[in-house]
Amino acid sequence: MPVSLYGLTRAELAAQVAAWGFSPVHAARLWRYLYWECAKSLEAMPKLPGKVRAKLAAEASLGALPIARELHSSDGFTRKFLLELADGRKIETVLMRFTGRVTACVSSQAGCAMGCVFCATGQAGFERHLEAGEIVAQAVHVNRILRAERTGSAIPRLRNVVLMGQGEPLHNYEAVMRAAAILRDPNGLSLGPDRITLSTVGVVPGIRRLAAERAGVHLAVSLHAATQEERAALVPVARRWPLDELMAACREYSAATGRRIFYEWTLIAGRNDGPEQAHAVGRLLRGMPAQVNLIPLNPTGGYAGEPADRTAARRFQDVLTEYGLPSTVRQRRGIDIAAGCGQLAGAARA
Ligand code: SAH
Ligand code: SF4
Repeated sequence: MPVSLYGLTRAELAAQVAAWGFSPVHAARLWRYLYWECAKSLEAMPKLPGKVRAKLAAEASLGALPIARELHSSDGFTRKFLLELADGRKIETVLMRFTGRVTACVSSQAGCAMGCVFCATGQAGFERHLEAGEIVAQAVHVNRILRAERTGSAIPRLRNVVLMGQGEPLHNYEAVMRAAAILRDPNGLSLGPDRITLSTVGVVPGIRRLAAERAGVHLAVSLHAATQEERAALVPVARRWPLDELMAACREYSAATGRRIFYEWTLIAGRNDGPEQAHAVGRLLRGMPAQVNLIPLNPTGGYAGEPADRTAARRFQDVLTEYGLPSTVRQRRGIDIAAGCGQLAGAARA
């Protein structure tokens, strides 16, 4: 098996280069090519001696992910990429611009085993876990695109990474946390602990582990419903990790880390967008360090629901305000390019 370069921390890369018999200078240069220049191939690393490049060609894989397909949203704020893994599987990575800052939305798995009814990835099922290097390479890809877009001398930088693409990150805990550690490296992409957000469907043991390890990531929890019965109908794994256990784990996480949790709520017209549900969320989260992010449903082929309208979203927010809960309505950026989770990969399979 070739060594996946994007799967190594800076210290591991240095150790590997030393084990091959080369100097630390070459390791530092290689690291800079990987993260500062986002080099796509060994040919794009001219300052490395030929013998180092030959060794890398023989023993390592660079792991830059080729673009299989690319879509731009009509508003120009979103670029969505279908990237090809070494085994030919395809995953989605999205470049999003909010108020001038660039966020990469990356996948943690090819497919997903959690089966949420409204999600294109859930409808398609699980393929495999991504390796740490395949997660890191997605963020590097977005940074490379930014570098290519630059007009003046200033090099634009990737500011945030959200693990909200395809897959359930806490179902692939080790690889995701390794990737987060590499992304945080101050001499690399330098995404500090406040710049990486992991979104989970509610894998309770994973949340507890994040709390125990005081992991350096923000946490978003996909709630979608505030009663066990309603939640289980949308999110099948709620039967395994019921709502009361989930909320207990969230309290543990906030107590251990001092961090506020984002709660994601996909707004489905007539299903979970009414005042009754908003009051239930208010009662559930009142007094907790929380922010609710409302996301109007992106319609998918396998689910008949419709997105909530603006008025319903605003009323929902007003009720949350009564409970002292801050909230946002996620703009449906990139809706015209099927930027919802798993929708482009779904279309590519069809
Ligand atoms: N598996 C993780 C992270 C990936 S999904 C999770 O479920 O949290 C990222 C977010 O997109 C989740 O909040 C999910 O509920 C939401 N989502 C998935 N499909 C959607 C759709 N069709 N419309 C709107 N939001 C969707
Ligand atoms: Fe998986 Fe998240 Fe989609 Fe649910 S919403 S199926 S957990 S990717």
